[in-house]
Amino acid sequence: METLHSLSRRDFLRNASLGAGALAFGNILSSFTLKPDKKLGIALVGLGSYSTGQLAPALQHTKNCYLAGIVTGHPAKAEAWKKQYNIPDKNIYNYETYDEIKNNPDIDIVYVVLPVSMHKEYTIRGAQAGKHMICEKPMALNAKECEDMIAACKKANRLLSIGYRLHFEPHNMEIMRLGQKQIYGKVTSIDTGNGFTYRGDPNAWRLKKAMAGGGGLMDMGIYSIQGTRYTLGQEPIAVKAMQEKKRPDFFKDVDETVFWELEFPGGFTAHGKSSYNNDWSYLHVEAQHGKFGLEPAFGYGELDGYTAKGPMNIPNIIQQAAQMDDFAECVRQNKQSRVPGEEGLKDMRVVDAIYRSLDSGKKEKII
Ligand code: NAD
Repeated sequence: METLHSLSRRDFLRNASLGAGALAFGNILSSFTLKPDKKLGIALVGLGSYSTGQLAPALQHTKNCYLAGIVTGHPAKAEAWKKQYNIPDKNIYNYETYDEIKNNPDIDIVYVVLPVSMHKEYTIRGAQAGKHMICEKPMALNAKECEDMIAACKKANRLLSIGYRLHFEPHNMEIMRLGQKQIYGKVTSIDTGNGFTYRGDPNAWRLKKAMAGGGGLMDMGIYSIQGTRYTLGQEPIAVKAMQEKKRPDFFKDVDETVFWELEFPGGFTAHGKSSYNNDWSYLHVEAQHGKFGLEPAFGYGELDGYTAKGPMNIPNIIQQAAQMDDFAECVRQNKQSRVPGEEGLKDMRVVDAIYRSLDSGKKEKII
């Protein structure tokens, strides 16, 4: 049987599903130094589908970091990963022994890949154990939790990055360039959507508000929000949202499909949507002198893009390998990631305002 180790880059991209992205950091990290040639050790916390299907395989293709350790509550998973990835017993933790990771010099970076309600606790505990942290999206249940995480990592003198792989993905980076540098002139319209038709376990944590914070908006909409923000390179100031539920018995506790209008300074309005009941992955932009966009836009399989001049013809990469390598390099150089906790916080402020708008039925300020 083919192991994850033996997957070629092409197989890896083909197998990836389309489901569910440097500023100087001043004196904060002055105490941390690493040999430039050392591959940094990453420990994954939570060995669910994203760690198993994407992050661990991507870590077989990284040049600045490697899979050094795991944190799991399942002894059988620990045993399987130990064999498959050659992980020594001393680098295997469970949720009770997690804090002991502070005594392990093999682990430089801890990557939290847990249900959203656990992101804050495990990120803060990891930073307090002296590790640099990556936390998966959405960063936390709400903006207040994000602020607490940023403050705790700063206090512990550790870097914090969010698993925003698309900021390292060449099609999305081209969109940032085209939009922010106004290559086709001023942007006049943005329409973006991200979603998939959820057919999974009805008892999964993703469908429980207390664990997921919300539904399609938290999980998928975060990409549409980001896509809009990084096309314009500006921060929205207000939002008006509405929702639709075609399967209310299934999505009892969380949002199914959400539509919104994001208002930017100067009055520009962008349209976005998210769903657990529609297969969407697109970002269409119109500018004064031509259109550009992506479709599919946000997955980790093959993406595709166009401009007014024709197809983008940009090669796909292993996004997570690029993302983790960049963070390892940031840790080596003591510099802030291009997707720090503050980036996750900005998205969560928009998400919070969208939920407030769904409740009030009115336009809400993003605060
Ligand atoms: P998953 O359900 O497959 O895995 C969750 C893991 O958490 C499992 O290993 C589970 O055992 C563990 N866990 C520990 N305590 C738990 C508890 N009390 N309840 C449930 N699970 C518990 O989820 P996933 O798809 O791997 O998602 C994990 C995180 O990764 C989420 O934040 C998700 O949004 C994110 N994710 C990101 C991407 C991306 O493209 N960046 C893609 C998929 C998932």
